[in-house]
Amino acid sequence: MHPNIYSGEQLKIQSEMRAFVKQDVPRQLLLDIDAEKVKYPREFLEKAAEKKLLGLRFPKEYGGRGLGWKEEVVALEEVGVLGTALPCLYSLVSIVGEAINCFGTKEQKDKYLSKTIAGKLTTAEGLTEPRGGSDFFGAATTAKREGDYYILNGQKRFVVGAEGADYFFIYAKTGTDPKGKNSMSAFLVEREMGVKVEHIYGLMGTRGGGTGRIVFRNLKIPKENLIGEENNAIKIFNRMMIPERMTSAAGALGMARAAIEIAARYSNKRKAFGQKIRSFEAVSFMIADSLTKLDAARALVHATAQAIDSDVEASLLRRLVSESKKFATDTAWEVINNAMQVMGGIGYTSVFPIERLLRDARLIMIWTGTNEIMNLVIQHEYFKQLLTPEGEFTTKDLRDVEGDAADSEKVEEKVFE
Ligand SMILES: Cc1cc2nc3c(=O)[nH]c(=O)nc-3n(C[C@H](O)[C@H](O)[C@H](O)COP(=O)(O)OP(=O)(O)OC[C@H]3O[C@@H](n4cnc5c(N)ncnc54)[C@H](O)[C@@H]3O)c2cc1C
Repeated sequence: MHPNIYSGEQLKIQSEMRAFVKQDVPRQLLLDIDAEKVKYPREFLEKAAEKKLLGLRFPKEYGGRGLGWKEEVVALEEVGVLGTALPCLYSLVSIVGEAINCFGTKEQKDKYLSKTIAGKLTTAEGLTEPRGGSDFFGAATTAKREGDYYILNGQKRFVVGAEGADYFFIYAKTGTDPKGKNSMSAFLVEREMGVKVEHIYGLMGTRGGGTGRIVFRNLKIPKENLIGEENNAIKIFNRMMIPERMTSAAGALGMARAAIEIAARYSNKRKAFGQKIRSFEAVSFMIADSLTKLDAARALVHATAQAIDSDVEASLLRRLVSESKKFATDTAWEVINNAMQVMGGIGYTSVFPIERLLRDARLIMIWTGTNEIMNLVIQHEYFKQLLTPEGEFTTKDLRDVEGDAADSEKVEEKVFE
């Protein structure tokens, strides 16, 4: 999107984030996390906190800047050029912070949110369990109330930050509803309370964030660490899915942008058959297609950001957030793949970072809800908007376009069963 259509506030955060990404994130850190020489880059978060770049949307009283989604997506695109691991750690402040900010007590905000935004505490989230991530409400981790504590048992897997985070945002079953929707609660679980890391995964990309499996065996969690109401974490889950998916969507824009810029520059220098390869339509049209899709994805992400800031109705919002996550991540994969194709063999090597971006990008179609789950949400919310509760379509204030056919009145021809 052209900077001229950004507001002053958006341009300001963009320039601050660009300066941070350019000056404060050493190239060596990116190489070391990809080589797994670094297990958890805490100093990256500390540096971002120093520049007051964490938790941008949260109230100033807790160290945030009180900005909106319109500004946060701009910042996320900039941090996205770093791939997935560092942006994920950056985004976790926005994701876990959302739950604490919207549903936490003043004490919880002082104890956890402020310190996380200040870079003094680091956080992670555990939603996924070994028996299934998409089936979130089928989670088997339990928390049983005993006096002033909850006794936590179970495990979560694929947790980014398993190895380094100071505290975890954990969902656990506290009720008996067999469907799980009305029996989930959310807790802030400190590592010191006894969280065990039992497995660190070898990953295709997104390395260096300390992704692993965490296990809880009879952990005593003080009742003060329950977030929101017992058995009502569905409300928190629904809210948290906004930052969960929007951070993936906006970060994807930065990854795609970085890759296509590298490939376009290369195509302007590399020659084949005596000509710059960008003079071949096969190459330049791949760049044109990539840019068009990237701009379309950015437009959708920004429109969704505006919808969140304007507090539009929940069903439409869920649809837009899911569309943004799906479209931006699918687009990033396609654009980065095109960038590799433009570069030929050298794009597949470690001489250029395209192969790392491609490895990183493969994950974003899977995490924070797979893109199939996004489709599930999109069509579900669309039909909810389209039809009355009885399953009928009403035109409401719209023209009945279905009637604009010469034989539209021949109802006997409209056979449905
Ligand atoms: C590197 C990495 C980091 C991650 N970070 C975190 C993290 O920090 N915290 C966290 O909680 N989780 C994290 N995840 C987990 C991630 O969000 C899950 O892997 C993802 O939600 C999918 O869950 P699953 O792996 O259990 O797959 P499954 O749920 O088993 O799905 C398998 C396949 O079935 C499809 N499927 C399942 N149900 C349906 C359905 N109803 N309709 C259509 N298709 C369906 C899925 O789309 C998928 O293709 C991470 C994962 C990885 C790999």
